[in-house]
Amino acid sequence: MNIDGIEIKPGESKQFTINIARLPTRTLIDIPVYVSRALEPGPTILFLAGMHGDEINGIEIIRQILREGYTNLSKGNLICIPILNIYGFINFSRDVPDGKDINRSFPGSERGSLASRVAHTLIKKIIPLIDYGVDFHTGGASKYNFPQIRCKFNNEKNLELAEAFAAPFTINADFRENSLRLEAAELGKSILVYEGGESLRLSEEAIREGVDGARRLMYHLGMMPNSPAARHVTRRIVDTTWLRAESSGIFHCFVKNGSNVTKGQTLGMITDPFGFGDFELDIKATATGHIICVNNVPVINQGDALIHIGIEDDKES
Ligand SMILES: [Zn+2]
Repeated sequence: MNIDGIEIKPGESKQFTINIARLPTRTLIDIPVYVSRALEPGPTILFLAGMHGDEINGIEIIRQILREGYTNLSKGNLICIPILNIYGFINFSRDVPDGKDINRSFPGSERGSLASRVAHTLIKKIIPLIDYGVDFHTGGASKYNFPQIRCKFNNEKNLELAEAFAAPFTINADFRENSLRLEAAELGKSILVYEGGESLRLSEEAIREGVDGARRLMYHLGMMPNSPAARHVTRRIVDTTWLRAESSGIFHCFVKNGSNVTKGQTLGMITDPFGFGDFELDIKATATGHIICVNNVPVINQGDALIHIGIEDDKES
């Protein structure tokens, strides 16, 4: 295997960097890469995090996979990229400095915007080498995603890998234009998106589910001799719906993220901030299902997304 001029032989593991660009102060911006190869041939899997630089749980998931030695493979190859968007990471930002989102910039181009150059590097230097991948994310802007895998249910391999990962929820999610998942699929590579927790905050629950799911996936692919048992049967979510704020105010959530809810159930309340009792508005579930995301921002404006409900199958809607 050769990545950016670095040769990694079967049985070897190597840590190196891929150069992207420089900061205005001339400091080099390098993407750290870790590769582990077993002697026995097998599938090649990519664990990628930090595409959105403020989504730290995925970065910590890959750090723990390396630190705990879950890179000692019985067969196949593992490529780990803990932080793709170094710019966002050091700026506490989702995007690169020009405000562009790398995950809307695929397949990218060598001479395009900064986001598009980062995307291009990944597509040219890494994606051709892999069979499968997991792209680790969190909810954006204080929206806490209960640990979940997003995949395409009509793609058999994608669904098989998602169920092997066995996050609490497996959600059918269409491809987004110019996303890594779409562009990789067009190259015949099956990528799962893991979502767990919220940006700029470590969540022990989301990190544990991510590390254990990654180990289960490698075990399923025959790359590891064992893996931790899933804590639950993963629930297949076929459809999702957002409850949005009908009015501005203070948002109070009464239900636990991940819990089951019934259509019509009161899930929370929007109040004025003053306690005069002038304004109180119940938030009711519009569907029966599971809570898969809660917005942890207390001060909200009309139209803000508050609670995301995942619907398991037709009979529940
Ligand atoms: Zn993200």
